[in-house]
Amino acid sequence: MFNSLQDKLDKALHNISGRGKITEINVAETVKEIRRALVDADVNYKVAKDLTKRVQDKAIGQNVLTSLTPGQLMTKIVHDELVDLMGGSQEGINLSDKPTIILIAGLQGSGKTTFSGKLANYLKQKRSKKPLLVACDVYRPAAIDQLKVLGGQIGVPVYTEEGNLNPVQISENAINFAKSNSHDVIIIDTAGRLAIDQEMMNEIRNVHQAVKPTETLFVVDSMTGQDAVNTAKAFNDVLNYNGVVLTKLDGDTRGGAALTIRSVVEKPIKFISTGEKMEALDLFYPERMADRILG
Ligand code: GDP
Repeated sequence: MFNSLQDKLDKALHNISGRGKITEINVAETVKEIRRALVDADVNYKVAKDLTKRVQDKAIGQNVLTSLTPGQLMTKIVHDELVDLMGGSQEGINLSDKPTIILIAGLQGSGKTTFSGKLANYLKQKRSKKPLLVACDVYRPAAIDQLKVLGGQIGVPVYTEEGNLNPVQISENAINFAKSNSHDVIIIDTAGRLAIDQEMMNEIRNVHQAVKPTETLFVVDSMTGQDAVNTAKAFNDVLNYNGVVLTKLDGDTRGGAALTIRSVVEKPIKFISTGEKMEALDLFYPERMADRILG
């Protein structure tokens, strides 16, 4: 994860370490290299520019020029800025409603169905909940089967209605089913398309308005870089969701989505998905991610 970004930041920060005397020009060069590394990692240009401007101001303000360990000081400044950029602290999910309804949204192939299974597994194993999965991807029977298989693996029931093409109705029926079967969390997996289209947005908006979820989570493939950020924005405009789930962080992703989404949509990343197995799910900790990026 983020190998190229790690290498470039390491190189930039290494160059300023171990010098006898640091000048403002050295700081400016380092900052420029950091900016280039971030842009190469698909971080939005303005976000990278603002971040590195703050790094430069802090470096000068905190006397990096006279520091005996300028490399360490710069690394700490960059670390703190990355943590801030990613939202500061971990934000969990709100499970206070009885039952708690969680709506899962995102493009087709982003990893929604896989995440729905992982979330159910996490809530069952780690939070002692009794979840119900709901298959609302009514256009793709394969997606319904996929959710049933995942449900079987983790021992969580899956609510489906064969032949019913109305996701609002299915969701409402599922909520009634959950209430009479003492399920305390309902996870609704919705239909996605390959790209944003009005019909999909209307459908998810209708489900959202009908079920009034406790949490709406937007799932996005971290490999898609700036597109991930644009899609995140489009879904947020319609759903005003509560949090983001970044998937496929086990792949060769450059890091742009993880670093930029928070500041663009002003919603926290809540979970990261790091594989196809049901256990490959982690809460997102900005601090840990910054540690990882800086090696
Ligand atoms: P959906 O169309 O949004 O429901 O997406 P799926 O859940 O069907 O996922 C699409 C593909 O990505 C499937 O082959 C999943 O196994 C795979 N996938 C999902 N999440 C991850 C992940 O975090 N890492 C990897 N490597 N693959 C994933």
